[in-house]
Order: sequence, then structure tokens, then C-alpha cells
Amino acid sequence: MQVFICRQPRTRGYRGMTSMTSEVPHDPIFGAMEAVGDAWSWMILQEAMFHGTTRFNDFQQRLGIARKVLANRLDILTRSELFDRRALKGGGATLEYVLTARGWDFFPCLAVAMRWGERWFGEAAPPVHALHREPQHPFRAVLCCAHCAKPIQAHDVSVVSMHRASSALIGAKRQRTPDLDLLDQSAANPMVSTLRFVGDRWSALVIRECFLGTRRFGEFAEHLGIAPNILTSRLDRLVTLGALVKRPYQTNPIRYEYRLTEMGFDLYAVPLAMLTWGERWLSPGRQGTHLRHNPCGRPLVAILTCETCGEPATGADVAYSTDPAGTVGTGGVTGAQ
Ligand SMILES: [Zn+2]
Ligand SMILES: [Zn+2]
Repeated sequence: MQVFICRQPRTRGYRGMTSMTSEVPHDPIFGAMEAVGDAWSWMILQEAMFHGTTRFNDFQQRLGIARKVLANRLDILTRSELFDRRALKGGGATLEYVLTARGWDFFPCLAVAMRWGERWFGEAAPPVHALHREPQHPFRAVLCCAHCAKPIQAHDVSVVSMHRASSALIGAKRQRTPDLDLLDQSAANPMVSTLRFVGDRWSALVIRECFLGTRRFGEFAEHLGIAPNILTSRLDRLVTLGALVKRPYQTNPIRYEYRLTEMGFDLYAVPLAMLTWGERWLSPGRQGTHLRHNPCGRPLVAILTCETCGEPATGADVAYSTDPAGTVGTGGVTGAQ
């Protein structure tokens, strides 16, 4: 993978999405992570899309997370316009959180994350059956090239140009670290399996760096502005989980580099889906990322596709069920706008 990075000028004291103006070149993956939040935000979006959940207490009961954490993540998702917060009809002061078009369009990120979890941890997780539209058939998410329709593999994509947020900008952001141990203990499902790898900003950014060719500790630290102890813990965790492998590249003194394993490489669809969403919603008119799909030589445009029938898919035409016969699906089929 050939990589040309347009580095941003260092921007000190940068705070908050609202100050993301045209003088700050857009980094779509970092922008998407900031707009959405961490693993808990993904779980909330999954609840909303797959199960039609809209009310605070229902999210809280179904996810079992602290009320303060839930309130914070719903706030982030509302400020970033993935949810519209409004009074429940006939519900007095009760609020409900309704997915916007921007929120629904995050569906490909969830779908490919869930698919990855199924592929690598399917046996550990109870089955959740995703069903594509009538006549219902199993939905298997895959990102395909809009031009040649081939499934997109990391090895087949060249980065022509890309804006990467500066380390000063990334490092200046307030920490929002989900309790990954709590996530580990929560009910296993394919999404949780994936979020253990990419559900916090540092792990996700480390994975993103790997796809951009970063391998050495000092390079990760330089690109991300991350404290050495946090970087060590994230790299070690990703090695333990099996997404990275650590190998010595010199012996005196010994130094290591980190490379994606087959499992790690297979994660590619997750950052690619986030990049696609970030480009579409967070930087209209100033898309700075250009990828090329080498098999067809065309600019890469990723389309979420159902592997079973080969048709494009959106959150509106996929339902979820714990019943393999699949008649109980809610969320997408009934709740999309
Ligand atoms: Zn192509
Ligand atoms: Zn299908």
C-alpha cells in the first residue's frame, strides 16, 4: 500500500467539533470518531438501528451502562446530529432519541463491524441473524467498489492523498476512554467482539496508523501525540487480542515493530466505512482523501453490499432477529426514514 500523507500544520489549543472550520483540513476517520464517540456510542446506535430503541431508560436497561455514561454519549450523538432529541408524543416530559439521516447512514460502519465480529468470534457470540429485504435472506455485509463491484481488500487500495489530523490536535483532545474491561464482561455479541479492538479512540487510531504503514513505536507516538504508557498499553492489548504481531527489527538495543496480522488486516472495512461516512457528512465540499482501487484503477468509492444477493444495502432494508426463521426483526425495516 503506497501512502502519501498531507500532514496538517500543528494546531494548538484546538477544542471541540464546533471549531472545525475550513482552515483545519479534514481528517474523516478522526472526525468520525470525534463525532460518534467510543464503543458505548456504537452500542447505543446498534440498539437504535437494530432494535428500534429510542428512550433513555430502554437504552439503559438493554445496555446495562451507567446513566451518566449513557447521558454523555447520547449528548455527543445528538450534538453531532446522529440523533434528534425530542419530546415523546403523549409522553409528557419524556424524551426520545430518533435517528437522523446522518445517524442511519452510520449503518455501514455497524454492519461491517458486526460482520467482522461474526467472522472471527462467531462461535463465542450468540447468533444474531441479520436479514436482508423481502424475500428475506441472510444479510452479510461487505464493502464493494462502486465502479467494479469487487469486494474491497486492504491490499488492493492505494492512498493517493489523505489529510491526517496533527498529533497536537489529536493529543489535545479530552480523553474519552470507555471501560474496555466492562465491555469485555458485557453480553457477548459480534459487535462487542469488534469493539474490543476498535472501540476506544487510541486503539482505533493505532489500527488506522497500521493501515497507513506505521510500524514503530516512535512513529505511532509522533503521529498520534499519545503518551508512551498509553501507547504501550494499547499496542500490548492489540497484540494480546491478535490484531497485531510484535517483532524485533534490531537487536542492540532491541527494538520492536508492530504489524497487522491476517485478523488485523481484515478489520480494514471498519476504518474504511468510517472514512466514507466522515467524508460524506463532516466535510461536504472539502473532501481531502483520495483512494484508488487498484484492480480497476478508479477512485475508490465504497458501497455497502449484501454478499448473499449482491445488492447494495442500507439500514432501511435490513432487520435483525435472534430467531433464525427471522420474523421478529425490528429496527431497520420498520424504523428507517
Ligand atoms: Zn474497483
Ligand atoms: Zn441481500
